[in-house]
Amino acid sequence: MRLHESVRQFCSEIGKDPLIVQGAGGNVSWKENEVLWIKASGTWLADAGDKDIFVPVELDHLTKALESRDYSVAPQTVESTLLKPSIETLLHALMPHRIVVHVHAIEVLAHLVRKDFKLINYPTLDKTLNARTVEYCKPGAELAEAVANQLDGTSNTRVVFLKNHGVIIGGDSIDEISETLKYLTRFFATPAISVPVTTPDLSLRLTNGVEFTPIGVTKLHEVAVTPSLVDRLYDNWALYPDHIVFLGPLPQLFGSLEEAKYSLEMEPELPDVIFVRDVGTFARETMNKAKIAQLICYYDVMTKLNDGAPLSTLTDAQISELVDWDAEKYRRGLNDTK
Ligand SMILES: [Zn+2]
Repeated sequence: MRLHESVRQFCSEIGKDPLIVQGAGGNVSWKENEVLWIKASGTWLADAGDKDIFVPVELDHLTKALESRDYSVAPQTVESTLLKPSIETLLHALMPHRIVVHVHAIEVLAHLVRKDFKLINYPTLDKTLNARTVEYCKPGAELAEAVANQLDGTSNTRVVFLKNHGVIIGGDSIDEISETLKYLTRFFATPAISVPVTTPDLSLRLTNGVEFTPIGVTKLHEVAVTPSLVDRLYDNWALYPDHIVFLGPLPQLFGSLEEAKYSLEMEPELPDVIFVRDVGTFARETMNKAKIAQLICYYDVMTKLNDGAPLSTLTDAQISELVDWDAEKYRRGLNDTK
């Protein structure tokens, strides 16, 4: 199988696994003949099998920019296309490996959001990965620079952990990447503890006709009903970038449906999803597939943090730079029709 075929097959496999990739999140690249093939912004890895989701960009142009420590360089596409290269293109260019995969794998993410995440706390992690960790940075130029500072110019580092974000894996073949990803998900695996609930038989209709109905994924009602998960809504909403970009800076949590109705009637801009304590999670029709995938991601991470571990949440400044960012508005907009 040729390289691009094996990459596409791998992408559509991991893209369909919500414990590895959520909606439009994550990106994959390969380098071939001075071209970096990178996932286009806003596209889904799950679509790699039947859609063109990769954009070819000039690798040499990015390498030169990196040599002069220019991390805000705009990638140049090799052929004209309507697709935009991923926000993380530079991250892929600076990793020296032929194939680079960046994902928000749940098992790993559930550790990367912990306040005490440090590699020293994981002494049995495979040393040959030569793993590195970077503190949270805004995706794009800042993150690329932080990662570049951790590399030593060789391909020795095959794993970079991004706190409050995800992981980058570099390798020479899809088999190698796949092995590393499997190893990491096994190594960091934590059993999820959930308390199953039923879907409430209630809806909320506002006087302007907008209706919030029970969300269609039953387990997501636990977020509003299980006390420890409700506490996490209050304390640990803003944990990683895609969550904020797709679900907003604050959770909309109410004590009852009546209270929700009273507050939302006065809101000029309605949320996509609301949580009603002890009742359930309700969404309106703007809650598209990309947003539901993010909420499932949040649920999956939270149900793996049952020890009440203190988590590291993004600061108000870090949240507002994500919400007001045009590059992310573009990515979110592409998913409104999903
Ligand atoms: Zn990411």
